[in-house]
Amino acid sequence: MASDTNFIEDFHWLMDVLQDIDVGLVILNREFEVELWNSFMQNHSARMPDEVLGHSIFELFPELPASWFKRKAEAVFVLHNSAFTTWEQRPYLFRFKSYRPITSIAEYMYQNSTVIPLTDTRGQVNHICLIIYDVTEVAVNRLQLQAANAKLHTLSRTDGLTGLLNRKSWETELHVEFRRFQRHQHGSSLLMFDIDHFKRVNDTYGHPTGDEVIRRTAKVVKDALRDIDVAGRYGGEEFAVILTDTDASGAKVVAERLRTTIEQLTITHEGNSLQFTISLGIAELNPSITDPGAWIEAADRALYKAKHAGRNNSVIFSN
Ligand code: GH3
Ligand code: MG
Ligand code: MG
Repeated sequence: MASDTNFIEDFHWLMDVLQDIDVGLVILNREFEVELWNSFMQNHSARMPDEVLGHSIFELFPELPASWFKRKAEAVFVLHNSAFTTWEQRPYLFRFKSYRPITSIAEYMYQNSTVIPLTDTRGQVNHICLIIYDVTEVAVNRLQLQAANAKLHTLSRTDGLTGLLNRKSWETELHVEFRRFQRHQHGSSLLMFDIDHFKRVNDTYGHPTGDEVIRRTAKVVKDALRDIDVAGRYGGEEFAVILTDTDASGAKVVAERLRTTIEQLTITHEGNSLQFTISLGIAELNPSITDPGAWIEAADRALYKAKHAGRNNSVIFSN
C-alpha cells in the first residue's frame, strides 16, 4: 500500500459517521488503491473492505474506464478542484444491480459521482474521495418522460388509422420541400390519389370494411415508397405523397406501380371480399408554381382529370 495510514486514521472518526450514509464513499490514493470503502459500496458491490482495501480500483472494477477516470482524477490531484459526472454523461461508474421496484426498467443503478480532493495537514492532495449517488429513480423518471414525449410527438404527427403522417404534419413537410426546391431547383413531384367509388364500399360492406380498405391502401403506399418519400393521409380516402428528387415521368412510374398493386389486391374483412381501384394525379414542381398551395392544386386538378377519364388511372398535370 502506497499510502500513509495516518491519513485515514486522521479521518477515522469522520468516516465512522459517514459509514452508514446512503451514498457511496471511496478514498483512493495516488496509485488508485482503495483506502476506504463504506457500507454503501459494500452492500452494492457485495465486496467486503478486506477484499478491496489496498487494491487498485481498476483491477477490482474493470467496468470503470481507467484512462477516462485517471484524467479526471489527475485534474483533482493537481488543481485541487472537485469533478462531477452525471448519469446522462455516463449511466454509472460501478455496475451495481438496481434493487428498486422499478428494476424492470433499470437493470443497473444510475449514478452521479463527484471526485473531491482530500487535503492533508501539509496542504497536499495525495488522496481523493469518490462519492457515488444513486440517482436511479430520477434517471428512470426522466427516461420514461423522454420516451413518453417522443411517443406523443410521433402520435401527434401521425394519423391513427393508417400510421401515415396526418394532414397537418404532411403539409408542414410539403412546405419544407417547397423551400428546398426554391433553393436548389431539383426535381420534385407531388402525387395525390383518391379511392374510386369509395362511398359504394361503405354502403355495400359497411364502414369498418371501408376502414380496412383505407388501412390496406396505406400499407401498399408504405411498402412501395423509398424512405425519403413523404406520405400522408390527406383526407378521408385521399392520400398525398411527396416524391423528392423525382420528375413527372419518375412519379408516373411510382403512380402506376401503386395503381396496379391496388388493382390486384383482394381485401377480405369480416366475411367480405372485395377489390377496388384508385385514381392518381401527378404534379412536378416548376418555377410557375409559386407556393405550396398551388402545387397541391395542380396535383388535385390532374387527379380530377383522372377521375373524369374513367378512374383507375394516373394523369400528369399540364396547364
Ligand atoms: P370517387 O370515385 O369520385 O372518388 O367517388 P367516391 O365515392 O370515393 O367519392 P368521395 O371521394 O367523395 O367519397 C369519399 C367517402 O369516403 C365519403 C366518406 O363517407 C368516406 N370516408 C371518409 N373518411 C372515411 C373513413 O375514415 N372511413 C371510412 N370507412 N369512410 C370514410
Ligand atoms: Mg373517392
Ligand atoms: Mg375523396
